[in-house]
Amino acid sequence: MVAQLDYSTLREIFRRFHEADPEPRSELRYTNAYTLLVAVLLSAQATDVGVNKATRDLFPIADTPQKMLALGLEGLTEHIRTIGLYRQKAKNVIRMSEILIACYGGEVPDSRAALTALPGVGRKTANVVLNVWFGQPAMAVDTHIFRVSNRTGIAPGKDVLAVEQALLDHVPARYLLHAHHWLILHGRYVCKARKPRCAACIIRDLCLYEEKNL
Ligand code: SF4
Repeated sequence: MVAQLDYSTLREIFRRFHEADPEPRSELRYTNAYTLLVAVLLSAQATDVGVNKATRDLFPIADTPQKMLALGLEGLTEHIRTIGLYRQKAKNVIRMSEILIACYGGEVPDSRAALTALPGVGRKTANVVLNVWFGQPAMAVDTHIFRVSNRTGIAPGKDVLAVEQALLDHVPARYLLHAHHWLILHGRYVCKARKPRCAACIIRDLCLYEEKNL
């Protein structure tokens, strides 16, 4: 495993990410906390593009738990059948909507414990909602963040929880809110799994990866 980069190097890495993209955004489309939660739940083992295609027609008619229940399981299933695991995801969204109405007045709760108690909502999904909607410096470590954190030395760790903790411990405070998006986008478009685009990478002089693709 590569070493943990020191604080001044991390500060410079995130300064560059910030300079290149001051307001990074999720590529998932949503209109409120509820549609964000649904979109993230649907995105497990699916691409953001695929989810956006399905939700383009869904969210205009079902952007609250009440409207989702009115649409019903069959109606929802029809809308999302192009997404992997759609049957189980549809059941989870319906059950989740019932719980949001029964326990939270139809609102999305802002605590990790409450979110992860919802059907189909794991720690990663909860962290995305806490970060993107509620502005909390939570780290949703997906496959991209895990790879980039380990390759570069930004936050090495043997599993996603270790990487999540290393990011929270080491990313300079002023960059914590957006770190999640910068790292996802960097992993998706530059530091790709098979052929990282090291020659075009803005942090290649700071990255510790020994097998750079230059
Ligand atoms: S230099 Fe290469 S391995 Fe390092 S972060 Fe950039 S793309 Fe990834």
